[in-house]
Amino acid sequence: MKVVSILLGVLLIALTPSPGPADPATLLFINGNIYTANPKGPHAQAVAVKDDRIVFVGSNADAKKFLGPNTRTIDLHGSTVLPGLTDAHYHFIGVGQREMNLNLEGITNLEDFLAKVKARVDQAKPGEWVTGRGWIETFWKPPVFPTRTDLDKISPNNPVFLTRADGHGAVANSAALKIGNVTKETKDPFGGQILRDKETGEPVGMLLDNAQGLVTRHTPARSDADTDQAIVLANKRSIELGWTQVQDPGGSYDDVEHYKKLYGDGRLKIRIYKAVHGPGQQAQRLLRDGPLIEAYGNRLNVRAIKVVSDGALGSRGAALHAPYSDAPDSKGFLRVKDEDLMPMLKEALQKGIQVETHAIGDYANRFILDEYEKALSAVPKSERKIGEPRWRIEHSQIINPTDIPRFAKLGIIPSMQPSHAIGDLHFAPSRLGIERLKGAYAWNSFIKLGVIVPGGSDAPVERGEPMIEFYAAVARKDIRGFSGEGWHPEEKVSREDALKMFTIWPAYVAFEENLRGSIEVGKLADLTVLSADIMKIPEMDILKTKCVMTVIGGEIVFEAR
Ligand SMILES: [Zn+2]
Repeated sequence: MKVVSILLGVLLIALTPSPGPADPATLLFINGNIYTANPKGPHAQAVAVKDDRIVFVGSNADAKKFLGPNTRTIDLHGSTVLPGLTDAHYHFIGVGQREMNLNLEGITNLEDFLAKVKARVDQAKPGEWVTGRGWIETFWKPPVFPTRTDLDKISPNNPVFLTRADGHGAVANSAALKIGNVTKETKDPFGGQILRDKETGEPVGMLLDNAQGLVTRHTPARSDADTDQAIVLANKRSIELGWTQVQDPGGSYDDVEHYKKLYGDGRLKIRIYKAVHGPGQQAQRLLRDGPLIEAYGNRLNVRAIKVVSDGALGSRGAALHAPYSDAPDSKGFLRVKDEDLMPMLKEALQKGIQVETHAIGDYANRFILDEYEKALSAVPKSERKIGEPRWRIEHSQIINPTDIPRFAKLGIIPSMQPSHAIGDLHFAPSRLGIERLKGAYAWNSFIKLGVIVPGGSDAPVERGEPMIEFYAAVARKDIRGFSGEGWHPEEKVSREDALKMFTIWPAYVAFEENLRGSIEVGKLADLTVLSADIMKIPEMDILKTKCVMTVIGGEIVFEAR
């Protein structure tokens, strides 16, 4: 038997054509500083690509045999090449809309905020809505939410609705509240909160999480043309930064239809791993119709459901076990109920659908771990379409330390955003107190247990730039190099792990670890070329590093001039 198999092996080797000039590459990269994220050969000089696949990884000398008359050779002159970077949590259309709408990022005080909004209000037609996003009061003096009274001064007539950077809160003026019929008598909707004046009970203008819907159901719907434009803008911005895939959590089949159309037109290049919102109609459709896998040349996957279990820390909507340290009357709130979630979770296991749930607070994280555990034991492996369903918890931000090992035990994947930690370090200690920071943004505690941690930015909540994320993961300091007391520097990750967070780990969590995520023969030719060696340069220089080329499926989709 042994002899036969050895003979068979020899025969197979003899029959396999040896690669050479007969099978030339379409693209040949030489003189590179290539980090492959493949432990069997972590570093290389050259990569050969044929059509959309990698056919060779190795030395300059060995790469020569892939040179043919039509091969385009790219001399990298020592530039650093990484496996095509992936952002595991990126609201793709939101990124495009940020480019189109009133962008309130980076404003450092209330006066500038009001001035910028007023400039837009002054251009608006009578009655026209003024909407925008991106403000964050953390650095304002004092760091308090704007109110409807502030906005009424600059816009007494036009309705104004301005979303905080995290998307979990918004401020509306009186005209907008009137249209939404939000009054003293309006009850807080489930999973949301209307902030009120402590004495009068009147709404002050801030609406948290589900309470935003009271007003947003009246704001003008996005037109199809606007959506297309947002997608095209997001595509351009993302590939210029070096992203080759984004995992887009939430939204609807309407988004998917737009993606399909634009892939068909060739106007959308980046790969998208889409999760539709659930529980509800969108999730029901995915469970009924089944997933879409590796469509449009492996560019589009729709095989996951996004659930939102609580709010955010900044707006104090994150659900905590104990009250907020700086708001003793509030513990945040859950946004989903067991009776709505559990049937969907069970069906998702039976049908091989991934579930990814937003959970920020320690109470929300435990609730979701409990829900996942209950569903996993109710539907044993033999009844699941996919034995290891790779369910994820998005953010996994504040965890009671006793819950951290449960991720490893249950096979739950914490999908985390390094930039949240370096933005939140300015207010999380006052929201949570020193003690609760122990299990907060605990990347390394997960990694040490063998848990994979796909990295993302949560753009447009954050900038959505790979170099900011990589820096945040390895430095755990803000972009000026500051880190506060009790910010657990031991939770920062090694550069090798940070590379995995944006390459092979997001590939794994998208069931694509055999298809992409590392530079290996047979995988899709997705590459990100950088201006500097982020595996070696001083921390602060990572932030100055630029993407110089992006390759998706063997196509150069961006090249810096
Ligand atoms: Zn998000």
